[in-house]
Amino acid sequence: MKFVTALIWAFRRLVAKVPLGVLLLILSLVPVLFIDWTSTYAARPDLNADRNKDTATTSSVRLFPVLETDFPPPTYTKVIKVGKKDTLTSILRREGISLITVSQIQKKLKNIFDPRSIKPGQEIELQITPLSSRIKHNALERIVLRPDIYNEIIVEKVGKDSFGIRSQKVPIETRLTKSIGVIDGSLYQSAMRAGVPDQVIMRFIKIFSWDVDFQRGIRRGDKYQVMYEVLYTKEGKLARFGRIKYAGLNLQGRHRVLYRYKTSKGLIDFFDKKGFSARKPLMLTPIDGARLSSGYGKRRHPILGYNKMHRGLDFAAPVGTPIYSAGDGIIVERRRKGFYGKFIRVRHNSRFETAYAHLSSYKRGVVVGKRVRQGQVIGFVGSTGRSTGPHLHYEVRRNGKAVNPRRIKMPSGIKLKGRELRKYERARKEIINQYSALPDQNPFPVSEK
Ligand SMILES: [Zn+2]
Repeated sequence: MKFVTALIWAFRRLVAKVPLGVLLLILSLVPVLFIDWTSTYAARPDLNADRNKDTATTSSVRLFPVLETDFPPPTYTKVIKVGKKDTLTSILRREGISLITVSQIQKKLKNIFDPRSIKPGQEIELQITPLSSRIKHNALERIVLRPDIYNEIIVEKVGKDSFGIRSQKVPIETRLTKSIGVIDGSLYQSAMRAGVPDQVIMRFIKIFSWDVDFQRGIRRGDKYQVMYEVLYTKEGKLARFGRIKYAGLNLQGRHRVLYRYKTSKGLIDFFDKKGFSARKPLMLTPIDGARLSSGYGKRRHPILGYNKMHRGLDFAAPVGTPIYSAGDGIIVERRRKGFYGKFIRVRHNSRFETAYAHLSSYKRGVVVGKRVRQGQVIGFVGSTGRSTGPHLHYEVRRNGKAVNPRRIKMPSGIKLKGRELRKYERARKEIINQYSALPDQNPFPVSEK
């Protein structure tokens, strides 16, 4: 009690001596000094706790947070409008392209295209692959320059660190083509026989690779539908095949249809009729599906058969067929591993891992600790370990246990909502109208291979 009295006394003396303004200032600082900073931090999710747990189990590998809602495509195309003070170099540097690449591009363009001839308002197309999660740390795959409306110059990657240059006529007319077919053999073979261009089929398969098992999920009598663009030059010559706008698969009576749509943020993806993106955190067919040996029939493991011990999917494909990382993640194992032969394990988040076995070789640069993107090639099909023929043995592990990849429910990458969903609805209706208006045609018949 004496202490309190003394304090009040001291306070009165202070008030008497110190000007009121200064006193108020001191008092106003008190709450700031007494805020419990520690509790503010504790309220945040403890990202480090998860990280530490991870480093404990996988030596030096650090877990990064995997966003379940945002899966940007590994490689994307960007169209840039040249600004008033822009040079080709400033544009490329702004997009996170290294100086080494910029000088390589300039060397290629020498004597063919003068970079100083680019004008404000002109459009330059770039194809970019992010190299890491850092913003603007990108590799350039391709640059398209248009000296005039009829011609374009393309500089694109041809090897690991080298670029090639070519020029071509700009397509000025786009026509839509539709193809419908019944699957007999693999989807690839059937569509090829029907005259669907090779690149279109490969893209079609990739669009469905998120949740279709192209080895077991396709049966004789299943149907496909596709509508894609065909581009022609001013002279009426076929320039190239464009984008797929509509992709349908009728598997054992279940009809899946996907529509191409560009979101307001510029993300191009395929969505179902409810606005769910086709893209999933993990791919069900993490392999170049066009090269699978047969559409159906190879339902059993070449060695073990499907039993409780063997919870994986086998994809029979020729030696050397590219294998993709099923999702974004980190390589946590890459070695020869007994029956598995050459083996890779990828960690996607604190719960999910995928494993790939019997590889013939690993993709260069794919080493333990390396971060990989979904769809990135990590290795090649082989027959190492205990295996009778070339195939990929693919496993999905949840909390360390192998689960049947066909059984797990994967969340959708994106769900369109609100105004975006209404915009998508209009785009989807237009695609449906275009599709219905077209006759079923295959204007590009190819001879049997
Ligand atoms: Zn297997």
